[in-house]
Amino acid sequence: MCGIVGYCGARAASEVLLEGLKRLEYRGYDSAGICVGSSGTDFELLKRKGKIRDLREIVGKDVAGTFGIGHTRWATHGEVNDINAHPHTSESGDVVIVHNGIIENYLELRTLLEKTGSVFQSDTDSEVIAYLIEKYYSGNLEETVRKVLPLLKGTYGIAVLHKNEPGKIVGARNGSPLVLGVGNQEMFLASDVTAILAYTKNAVYLNDGELVTLTSEGYRTFDIHDTLIQKQVEEIGWELEQIEKKGFDHYMEKEIHEQVASIRRAFQGRLNKDSATGHLGGLNMLPYELLQVKRVVIIAAGTSYHAGLIGAYLIEKLARISASAELSSELRYKNPVVEHDTLYFVVSQSGETADTLYAMREVQRKGGRVLGLCNVIGSTIARESNGGVYLHSGPEIAVASTKAFTSQLAIFYILALSLARMRHLSVEDGLRIIQALEKLPDHIQRILDQADKIEELAKKYHIYNNFLFLGRGLNYPVAMEGALKLKEISYIHAEGYSAAEIKHGPIALINDTTPSLFLVPDDALRDKVITNMKEVKARNGRLIAVAVEGDTEVADIADDVFFIPHTDEILYPFLMVVPTQLFAYYCAIELGRDVDQPRNLAKSVTVE
Ligand code: GLU
Repeated sequence: MCGIVGYCGARAASEVLLEGLKRLEYRGYDSAGICVGSSGTDFELLKRKGKIRDLREIVGKDVAGTFGIGHTRWATHGEVNDINAHPHTSESGDVVIVHNGIIENYLELRTLLEKTGSVFQSDTDSEVIAYLIEKYYSGNLEETVRKVLPLLKGTYGIAVLHKNEPGKIVGARNGSPLVLGVGNQEMFLASDVTAILAYTKNAVYLNDGELVTLTSEGYRTFDIHDTLIQKQVEEIGWELEQIEKKGFDHYMEKEIHEQVASIRRAFQGRLNKDSATGHLGGLNMLPYELLQVKRVVIIAAGTSYHAGLIGAYLIEKLARISASAELSSELRYKNPVVEHDTLYFVVSQSGETADTLYAMREVQRKGGRVLGLCNVIGSTIARESNGGVYLHSGPEIAVASTKAFTSQLAIFYILALSLARMRHLSVEDGLRIIQALEKLPDHIQRILDQADKIEELAKKYHIYNNFLFLGRGLNYPVAMEGALKLKEISYIHAEGYSAAEIKHGPIALINDTTPSLFLVPDDALRDKVITNMKEVKARNGRLIAVAVEGDTEVADIADDVFFIPHTDEILYPFLMVVPTQLFAYYCAIELGRDVDQPRNLAKSVTVE
C-alpha cells in the first residue's frame, strides 16, 4: 500500500511527481504530498489530506524544482490528516522522507529521541526515520541511511532527501516494493512501474536489503555494507495505453469488459489439443516431478483466495489430488506442516501482498516448493517463488479485482487439466474440456452484451442493506467473491454462503428486506440449489437468480433472473462471476460510490 515516487532530471519535478502519484493512487488515497527542490533553493513541501486532485489544488504552477519525492498514503499509524501526510521532515527540516510500510519499533525509537530533546510533529511511525537520519548525518546521505537502516524493525520502502545534497535521492527497501526508472539524463523511483511508464520503459527492480542513490546523471545500487550490486535493466512489458480508461467511466468497468481478451491471453499457448492437455512452462517442474505431487495447497488473500478455493476444488475433482486453499495471513502463523510431496501455490495479483509474501517465505523456510501466480511481472513474489505463472491480464488498476480473478481461474483450470491428464483423465475428456475452455471468451462477451439487464437489476436492488450470495460446489466460492465485490465497492453488507449451509444459520436473516442472489448452473447440484431457493421463498425472501439460458423452472421461482450461456459443468465459475461483478459495479454507481477507489481500501496490500 501507499505509493512512492521520486524524480531527478530536467523536467518540472512537481509535474512528474503528481502524474506518478495519480498513477499510484490505487495504492492508497488517504492523503498525499510532495517535496521538490533545485540547486541553491529551499525545499518546497506541500501535503494535504485527500486525493491527488486535492494536492494539485495547492501545488500551483510556480513550484520550481527539478528533483523531489512524493507519496500517497494508506494510513497505518496516526489518523488521516494533513500533519500525518507524507513527506515527513526531520526536526530542522534538513531531511525529508517518504515511507511505505510499518516501523514496528517506532515507539521505542521515538522515546529514545525524545529523551534527548526531540519533539515530534506527527503520530506516524514514519517520522522517526527522518529524525534518525538527521541525528546520525555524517555529511554523506548514503552512508547515513546505511547506518540508520539497521535500527529500524519492520518494513519499508523509503526515499530520502537532504538539503546539503541537492539533486540526490537515496532509496531503500525491505518488504515494500521499489523500482527504479532509467531515463536519459533523468532518473525515477517508484513503488511500481505504472508511475514511470509515461517516461521510460527501462526498469531496475530493487530487492529487499538493497539501497539506491539516484541523481539525474545515473544511479548506484548497493547494500548495507556499501557493497556495489550490479542490477539488470529490464524492459517494462506494459504500454501506457493499457493504464488509461479508454472511454470507460471507470477502470473497474473497463477491466470487467477486458475479461474477454484477458482470459484468451491466459490460455494462449498453454492449451495443447494434440495431447489434450495444458502446459504451464514457468512451473520449472518436470513431468515426473509433477506426477509425484500428493497434495496441493493454495495460499492467498481476498479475491485471490476465492480463486484459490475454486482451484483447489477443481484440482481435487479433476486430478484427484487432495487440495486445499488457505488464507495467507492465517497460514503464516499456524506453524504449517510442510511436506516434500506437496506443491504450494501462492496467488497474488500484484505479487506484493505482504500476508502472502510472508506465508510463502515461511513455507520456503520449511523446505516447501512454492510456485507463484502473479500478474505483475518482476514483482517480489514472482522473483522469490520457485517458479510460477504470469496471468498476463494486463495492468489492473481498479482496487476491486475482476479480470485478475478470472485469469487466476484460467491458470488453475490449465493446471488441473495437466495434472489430471498425467493421471487418469482420457484424451477425449481432456479435449472436451479444452474445447469448452476456448469458447469461454465468446460466452463472456454475450454476458457483457447484456450488461444493461444487470444495470436494471441494480437499479431495483441497490436500496437493500443486506444481501446473501448463495452457490454450491465450484460456485460456492463464486458466491463469496460476488458478496465481497458488493461489499468492497457499494458498502452494502453481503454474505457469501454455500446455499446448503444457510439452513444452519443464515436463513434466520431472511425476510423481504434481505434479497438472496442464487447461482444456479445446470450441473449435478442444480436441483439441490432449487430446493434451497424454495426454502428462501417460503420465508418471504426476495430471489435473484443467475441461471442457464432456457431454465424456466428457475425463472418461475425467482423474482428476477439473469441468464448465462450453457457451458461444461465445471466451467460455470467463469460465467457466474461476471454478472456478480457487473451487479456490484452498477449498485455502486447507483449509490454514488467511488468505484475505483472505495473507502478504506487499497490495492497491493503491502502491510500485514
Ligand atoms: N506507516 C506509515 C503511515 O501510516 C506509512 C503507511 C503507508 O505505507 O502508506 O503513515
